[in-house]
Amino acid sequence: MTESQVKKIGVLTSGGDSPGMNAAIRAVVRTAHYYQIECFGIREGYAGLMEGNCLKLGPRSVKHIINQGGTILKSARSLEFKTPEGRKRAYEQCQKLGIDALVVIGGDGTFTGAKIFCEEFGIKVIGVPGTIDNDIFGTDFTIGYDTALNTAMQAIDKIRDTATSHNRVFFVEVMGRDAGFIALNSGLATGAIDILIPEKKDSIDELFETFIRTEKTGKSSSIIVVAEGEKLASTYELAQKTKEKFPEFDIRVSILGHMQRGGAPSCADRVLASRLGYGAVIGLMEGKTNVMAGIQSNQLVFTPIEDAIKKSNEIDSELVKIAEILAI
Ligand code: ATP
Repeated sequence: MTESQVKKIGVLTSGGDSPGMNAAIRAVVRTAHYYQIECFGIREGYAGLMEGNCLKLGPRSVKHIINQGGTILKSARSLEFKTPEGRKRAYEQCQKLGIDALVVIGGDGTFTGAKIFCEEFGIKVIGVPGTIDNDIFGTDFTIGYDTALNTAMQAIDKIRDTATSHNRVFFVEVMGRDAGFIALNSGLATGAIDILIPEKKDSIDELFETFIRTEKTGKSSSIIVVAEGEKLASTYELAQKTKEKFPEFDIRVSILGHMQRGGAPSCADRVLASRLGYGAVIGLMEGKTNVMAGIQSNQLVFTPIEDAIKKSNEIDSELVKIAEILAI
């Protein structure tokens, strides 16, 4: 590899946090160190970039974080960075610090900001997909998704224990924003009788038919997994409508919420984060910019940020079918 033109990179985490972001920061810092590139950690995402709120990071600064949830750099949402004035302030800080490239770890909002910043000021940027939602095009999995999925699965398993003991119907809402990956996979893994996701057109009558069908096969308790972005109705409304139709049902609602964003990252997320953090630095050294590092079919790939933002990963229709067939 020829000598890198990138001399000093900044790394930040932005938008919603996800387990594995720390492992990605560690990989960026240590890969940069290995190739003799200076590395600055920028605190609190773009808000910190505008303030020059950063610290120099070396290999020892990122010790014992590969196994920690959250992000040591903290994350923030900054409205000011959406304005040209805010981004100019950020650029001035980059100039002051001598930062010529950024690795931004986050979701599509983070990437939109990075793309605009790169195009306005010529600062090189590489995105690393860090979000539990798995809703980023250009990578098979995003950092944090596997951990969140396992957290949701374990929680639903526990809910199932109590649902079975009391012959109850549970509507469990899981995270995922406008995407149904967590819902579909956690629902399949926990034997939910129905899984409602925004990518598939659901109807209340179909849901009622599922209850009637499964009751006939002898089920006395049921789990319905609902994605937070489900379009048919809110989880509470679905539960209420079901109660009106089947007054004899003992129905409960459980919204899993932010527990899905925390916890120690799974092995798969640590490995993914390490590969993508490493890949981001390698990409910058090779002169790549305005792209996102991802893993597709087990290969490191770079996708234009524009595509990563605009395109979307399809839900596997076969998984939907399997979940339906197995829920008899
Ligand atoms: P998640 O999907 O987990 O919520 P995200 O990266 O999509 O993560 P956002 O809050 O949408 O989270 O975006 C993070 C930050 O990126 C915003 O607070 C803002 O500073 C910046 N950003 C988002 N959209 C734009 C934009 N259009 N122009 C400039 N900056 C933006």
